[in-house]
Amino acid sequence: MKEIYFLRCRECGKTFPNQPQSYCEECFAPLEVSYDYEALRQTTSREAVSRRAFNMWRYAEFLPLPQGFTASQPIGGTPLVKSRKLGLHLGVKNLFFKNDAVCFPSLSFKDRVVATALAAARRFGFETIGCSSTGNLANAVAAQGAQQGFDTCVFIPADLEAAKILNTAVYGARIVRINGNYDHVNRLCTQIADKFRWGLVNVNLRPYYAEGSKTHGYEIAEQLGWELPDNVVVPMAGGSLIGKIAKAFAELAHLGWVEPKQVKFFGAQATGCSPIADAVKRELPRFTPQKPNTIARSLAIGNPADGPFALRLIRESGGWAEDISDPEIIDSIKLLAQTEGIFAETAGGVTAGVAAKLIQQGRIGNDETTVVCITGNGLKTTDAIAAHFPATEVIEPKLDAFEALLQEQLKDSIQV
Ligand SMILES: *Cc1c(COP(=O)(O)O)cnc(C)c1O
Ligand SMILES: [Zn+2]
Repeated sequence: MKEIYFLRCRECGKTFPNQPQSYCEECFAPLEVSYDYEALRQTTSREAVSRRAFNMWRYAEFLPLPQGFTASQPIGGTPLVKSRKLGLHLGVKNLFFKNDAVCFPSLSFKDRVVATALAAARRFGFETIGCSSTGNLANAVAAQGAQQGFDTCVFIPADLEAAKILNTAVYGARIVRINGNYDHVNRLCTQIADKFRWGLVNVNLRPYYAEGSKTHGYEIAEQLGWELPDNVVVPMAGGSLIGKIAKAFAELAHLGWVEPKQVKFFGAQATGCSPIADAVKRELPRFTPQKPNTIARSLAIGNPADGPFALRLIRESGGWAEDISDPEIIDSIKLLAQTEGIFAETAGGVTAGVAAKLIQQGRIGNDETTVVCITGNGLKTTDAIAAHFPATEVIEPKLDAFEALLQEQLKDSIQV
């Protein structure tokens, strides 16, 4: 039987059979997975999807999975939380957080992309898998690689957050720390993928990897009652996720599962690594690569592979991009935790802070529906905020000691 998905060049449109390859042999542009949507229309329906368990596999027909694929873990299916306090504080009525900080199994949206990449890795017969990573991807590859019995080897910048390294090591993955930033690590991985028969999820398996991100978008539409939002605010590292949310929305509209709508795409970056936001704000035709310097390590990609496509999408959708500084990222992590009870990692601080900035600028309207994508968990980047929360006083286990402490705190709170 003919497969309903295949590879297609994003620039020249040339098509290729399914294989572990990420760029076009004709024009060297990136390849992406394309589908026969008429065949897809025959094999699935909104009602059929709605009856399945709430995780990313309910959208299996929309993903490049091998024949007879069975999922080994319930990945994705994260909450869409309606804001109460933060929306009120910012003066907007319909603000939502899509919370992939609690994605299973490794607490970031990278669990979704690794799920589809490893399905492809198995199909192509790879025994060793790996990735170049700013942290979360390595966590997800290590966790799912262990569960599925792959030999796993990940490549990271040497100075990543300790928690991100530990969250990879615990699964038994081999870790290669590179003296350099992500862009150096990624270049090395391109050479490794050429030379060894290894499945590097975001290198030679990149088209299959990227498709997993679409499930973040399908879930948003479904959780809004099969409607598209007016705006989405998306963190950008390589610039892949933002484009795949757009692809998910376009597919649902094409199949008639949602009313078509011109959704505005807003990109969020940290000022210390903001090549895409910089190009949007200065209205440049192309972005200029940067040398990253920010606490938002998971977004620290100075030369984003999908940057040109993200830039085009943001412009054509009528959206915008913004960036915030490291101190603003910390304030915004605290604000999100203290208003919504969501503890996001630095990337989530970037996204929430940029959303607030766009609302203040009037680029996001107060009666529009806006979804802010929270992509990673705060427990992985505690180093970034630890200095802001010094240890509190210790008292004896006696009632009078507690009463004295209360008195003292009362005095302090009156002073401010
Ligand atoms: C990787 C990552 C992103 C961005 O992903 P791209 O698809 O590379 O733009 C956003 N947030 C977190 C937490 C990530 O780990
Ligand atoms: Zn091409």
